[in-house]
Amino acid sequence: MELHKIQQLINQDNLVKFYQSKAWRDLRTAALKRDNYECQECKRQGRVEPAQNVHHIKEVKQFPQLALILDNLEAICINCHNKEHKRLEKYIRKKKPKFLNEERW
Ligand SMILES: [Zn+2]
Ligand SMILES: [Zn+2]
Repeated sequence: MELHKIQQLINQDNLVKFYQSKAWRDLRTAALKRDNYECQECKRQGRVEPAQNVHHIKEVKQFPQLALILDNLEAICINCHNKEHKRLEKYIRKKKPKFLNEERW
């Protein structure tokens, strides 16, 4: 999937299409294999947990050019993934006034 296509999906708020693409599914499998299907966040805390998800370290919406870069991915368990995204949401919400301004265009 090409960058302009990913950018288009972001603009249309339709990233679901990205996550359904073969390019993503292949890369996702590669990331899980590389990380031995173990949650990397739990691993940093000294625990071993099976990973079910693959997380973009730098968010697709902010860094679409990194959406299909293996180095930007890590295997993660559902628990850690939810925690990570709550943390990111808070961070994005704080910056919301800026986004509202941009929406006027
Ligand atoms: Zn975990
Ligand atoms: Zn994620």
